[in-house]
Amino acid sequence: MKKISIIIPCYNESAPLWDAYFEVNNILELLKEKYTYEILFIDDGSSDNTLHIIKEIATTSDAVKYISFTRNFGKESGMLAGLENASGDIVIIMDADLQHPPHLILDLINNYEEGYDQVIAKRTRKGEKISRKYITKIYYKLVNKLIDVELIDGIGDFRLLSKKAVNYLLSMREYNRFSKGLFSWIGFKTKIVEYENQERVSGESKWKFGSLLNYAIDGITSFNSKPLRLIIYLGFFITLINIIYIGYTFINIILFGIDMPGYFTVISSILLLGGIQLISIGVLGEYVGRIFYEVKNRPHYLINETNIDQTEKDTTRIEKLKVEL
Ligand code: UDP
Ligand code: MG
Repeated sequence: MKKISIIIPCYNESAPLWDAYFEVNNILELLKEKYTYEILFIDDGSSDNTLHIIKEIATTSDAVKYISFTRNFGKESGMLAGLENASGDIVIIMDADLQHPPHLILDLINNYEEGYDQVIAKRTRKGEKISRKYITKIYYKLVNKLIDVELIDGIGDFRLLSKKAVNYLLSMREYNRFSKGLFSWIGFKTKIVEYENQERVSGESKWKFGSLLNYAIDGITSFNSKPLRLIIYLGFFITLINIIYIGYTFINIILFGIDMPGYFTVISSILLLGGIQLISIGVLGEYVGRIFYEVKNRPHYLINETNIDQTEKDTTRIEKLKVEL
């Protein structure tokens, strides 16, 4: 019998956690003729009593596993820990706040049975703050122009992955993980299932405007080096304009003699060039910073507590993975 692993990253989710567990568990019970299952909670260094609740839930069933980090490492690390520790043949990633409707698990599984290695749940943007709606719209437009893989609006991390897809994802060991891009990068026969946008049942979103902006920069810079190419083009363009302008001024001087007043041109070119140079250095710095992190090769997360056997060291896992691939 095949096994389903549900991965739920949780950061300060004490409020919706029990409900989420009940709903997910009820759905999985419907499938128990065909599949065994495990529910894997990742406590991402919560400061409320999320971990306590997870442990309580774990006492009610052997199917409940958990991993607790030493501090908040971010959702990307949470998902990675889930993928690394899930033992199922099918893995489903979902949020703890019930914004990813658990009944959709049935649809995801149906499509898996039809032969899809990735089944993605796509939400409509109904009931969302107007500001966020537009920011995300612009974000996707911009990112898709710059990125090699295609990102689709409304698609988050709620998805089903076959074991093969999970292994490929884990074979990418980069430190700066941008999952949306990675999911798309591995390819596979992919199916999209739509669902209506859900309001968070309780607790609050950890997203802030600043983090969305940071996410945008991450999305662009972690996938390719097009911004660097862009700077080169910008450099060419500005040089060309400068050459034309210098030529024009030179001819003017020859024809009409030296014209002293030039304050406006001087100050505007200093300011404009200064700005462009700073942005360019920033872009370069962004890549250097990424290289810095990759080179350090630190672990993505540190486990404080878990009820999963961790005797099998990370490195052996990865070695094994390579053989399986
Ligand atoms: N999350 C996490 N670590 C973080 C931030 C969020 O594991 O540092 C989890 C969070 O508990 C939730 C999911 O990621 O299960 C999505 O977070 P949230 O609901 O805040 O994001 P939104 O739905 O607003 O995009
Ligand atoms: Mg949410």
